[in-house]
Amino acid sequence: SEITERYEILERIGSGAYADVYRGHRRSDGIVVALKEIHDYQSSFREIEALQTLRDSLNVVDLLEYFWQEDEDAVLVLEFLPTDLASVIRDAKRGGGLAPGEVKQWMLQILRGVDACHRNLVVHRDLKPSNLLISAEGVLKLADFGQSRILQETRYISRDNSPHEPGSENEAWLPQQPAMVGEGNQPWPDPRPINEDEYLRELDGLKAKHAMEDTDKEMSLQDGDASCLATCSTGDVEDDPFKGSYTYEVEEVKDDDESGALTSCVGTRWFRAPELLYGSTTYGLEIDLWSLGCIFAELLTLAPLFPGTSDIDQLGKIISVLGDLTEETWPGSSKLPDYNKIFFNKIENPIGLEACLQNRSAAEVDLVRRLLGYNPASRASAMELLQERYFVEEPLPVPISELRVPS
Ligand code: ADP
Repeated sequence: SEITERYEILERIGSGAYADVYRGHRRSDGIVVALKEIHDYQSSFREIEALQTLRDSLNVVDLLEYFWQEDEDAVLVLEFLPTDLASVIRDAKRGGGLAPGEVKQWMLQILRGVDACHRNLVVHRDLKPSNLLISAEGVLKLADFGQSRILQETRYISRDNSPHEPGSENEAWLPQQPAMVGEGNQPWPDPRPINEDEYLRELDGLKAKHAMEDTDKEMSLQDGDASCLATCSTGDVEDDPFKGSYTYEVEEVKDDDESGALTSCVGTRWFRAPELLYGSTTYGLEIDLWSLGCIFAELLTLAPLFPGTSDIDQLGKIISVLGDLTEETWPGSSKLPDYNKIFFNKIENPIGLEACLQNRSAAEVDLVRRLLGYNPASRASAMELLQERYFVEEPLPVPISELRVPS
């Protein structure tokens, strides 16, 4: 076949429910690649769509090319990444631990990857340490976009829901200047939008890019997934009074069914947000932020934060730490599909995050806390967290070249 003409396929390195992954060589120049054969049309389509959208992001795995096979399987040719964050955590646990500056550098890279996704309205839906792959040089990249979606129709609103006015109070949380971090004070390799104008220009560029890609896709996929194409329409927000600030609100999202509902059966239980556990079908990018909170906590303690043994147990573990989940702590929660199907006794003394993250600094605990809000709207975005003091104060993130990468 065309693939075997171009690549020498070596051993299998991974297999999941829908995919087998092989190590391979490109015959033309011998570079090592990962060949991911996906046995499910929809996952194939989603992974390709997401990786193409994110193709210029440093902290997202590179898709070199892909092939469709007769049986609607796809083979993705990915840059080969030899290890992952789960291995980093495992090694650290065996001995040595992780220095605060190392934790910080891993977090930075994860946040940059997630920020790239979210700025493109890609919700990953399965963030966990084993899907954060790492190169031999210590560059961390988000992988496994088989469950991802690109959300459509968004409205840019300000934190307090009021229309954004330059110079008003709600401008305070807009990033003010590019942060300078580590690496001999080099600016971010993945340039941050530094002010509103620049951000809006970027957004316009993105919309134009999406529109172009939609046309490309329609042409290249011919009978491609119509429902998926429908989710990529780009609305015109020229007259949107909310235009101009940074958070998003998902107005309407389409999944595979006609009703426009997203499936709540995504992700890996330990990293699944409470709205998913309660069966929400209208969630947004915030589900990834919850997963991030769980991943960051695991980096800090080297143990999973909420290792639930069932979906009910998962919610139980969350509540025992963070306290009751009610209309008071999360307005609107009682309207979630499964809210009344699951009943918990009142938690008199929640364990609290501090107790779970023993011996960690206040700044570290605070970072996790800002991601683990019950109310999805209360969770800090990746872009906001990248502007945090935490990342520019001592101990500074260690340079990527000094990270210890499992062999
Ligand atoms: P699944 O959807 O089946 O979980 P993944 O993309 O997570 O598929 O891949 C499964 C396994 O294959 C991963 O855990 C990893 O060990 C390996 N793998 C995937 N992509 C790569 C890659 N780019 N480089 C090296 N190994 C990879």
